Amino acid sequence: MAEKTLEDLFLDTVKDIYYAERQVLKALPKMARAAQSEELKAAFQKHKEETEVHVERLQQVFELLGKPARGKTCEAIQGIIAEGEEIIEDFKGSPALDAGLISSAQAVEHYEITRYGTLKTWATQLGMKEAAKLFEQTLGEESATDATLSKLGVASANVKAKSKAA
Ligand code: FE
Ligand code: FE
Repeated sequence: MAEKTLEDLFLDTVKDIYYAERQVLKALPKMARAAQSEELKAAFQKHKEETEVHVERLQQVFELLGKPARGKTCEAIQGIIAEGEEIIEDFKGSPALDAGLISSAQAVEHYEITRYGTLKTWATQLGMKEAAKLFEQTLGEESATDATLSKLGVASANVKAKSKAA
């Protein structure tokens, strides 16, 4: 078996997150439609637009690598998205829906954060400055989205989700 290197790991991981981002791009409009509060809808819509840019940045990374932009099935994101869909179904019409949507969206952001954190480090160590910069930009937007979601949860969705009897 040929020896595999950090370069191989790097390319595989770029393919993983490329697949994941495109799945997220499909999931976000569904989450925006499902959200009850206008603020949460707007947050999902805004992040959908950012996610389009994340996909474009990854295409730039493939270009820098001289490789075709191709995804690799990421079961982790499939699972996270499936759980989100379950929440949409199970909590439809309930006051806890938005809190649930926020929790699943944060799981997505954290998956992305871990991937981009690793990719940025590897790109830097592989001397791929340009790619490292692209990952850093996306990482900043994922982290900002995570913070926005936390704020929306604490300020309204979680409060609304608490049972009146509590
Ligand atoms: Fe993203
Ligand atoms: Fe994201």
